[in-house]
Amino acid sequence: MRFSILTIFPDFFASPLGEGIVRRALGSGKIEVDIRNIRDHALDKHHMTDDRPFGGGEGMVMKPEPLAACLRAAAKEDATRRVILLSPKGERFNQRVAERLTAYGQLLLICGRYEGVDERFRRLYVDEELSIGDYILTGGELAALVVMDAVCRLLPGVLGCGDSATNDSFSRGLLKHAQFTRPRVFEGLAVPEILLSGDHAAIARYRLVESVRLTLERRPDLLADVRFTPDEVKILRREGLYGRVKTTLVPAEEPNHAD
Ligand code: SAM
Repeated sequence: MRFSILTIFPDFFASPLGEGIVRRALGSGKIEVDIRNIRDHALDKHHMTDDRPFGGGEGMVMKPEPLAACLRAAAKEDATRRVILLSPKGERFNQRVAERLTAYGQLLLICGRYEGVDERFRRLYVDEELSIGDYILTGGELAALVVMDAVCRLLPGVLGCGDSATNDSFSRGLLKHAQFTRPRVFEGLAVPEILLSGDHAAIARYRLVESVRLTLERRPDLLADVRFTPDEVKILRREGLYGRVKTTLVPAEEPNHAD
């Protein structure tokens, strides 16, 4: 996948692209990142990319012509493309959206600044708007990095361990269970005995129960999208948790017998 990021601050991306999994994905050719400076497509000699708003009011608005020209230059002809404007007014970005975006060959991520972009550019060129949360950032660069990072780690071969993305929080609508590593006892707190037992089936059951407990406690809203297998339902019933989660399940997932 190619991520094309359109920005007036191209240097913003040097450090995040040079670290960790994203750097490795770039090095192995699993992803390409193409940072485009919108200012290079400005029409006047001062390279202006913004102007005062028609109708008055505070701040500046990003001009449509440099954005459109930059987008045309960045668009890869042979790719399935998605033009995304980072915007607090967009759909809330989450794991489902990240999964959906893995289907494209090129994501063009447009970073707004100032008061945002000219509405005509949005209407003519943007496929969708994404927000990373209900707060206002100074620009879309951080939001573009969030989207790129979350999509990148879902692409085949990007994560070292094949199934680490499928077991993550949100991947099936549950928060991930707590994790422990050496030492066995840390400042008086021991690792749960079951994790040392070597009994993989028992550990899987324990982790499912812990995941469900955590999700019920912190994000019960997520449970509406979870599909439990009949075996999992049995485990949850045994732990006295099924009654609490079943109100969130869709009717098709309900087993026929009484709880
Ligand atoms: N005046 C705009 C409003 O009230 O909706 C906010 C503009 S903000 C200062 C400048 C740019 O930062 C936006 O055009 C957008 O690209 C980006 N931005 C700010 N908050 C964001 C968020 N929560 N999610 C995604 N992008 C955001």
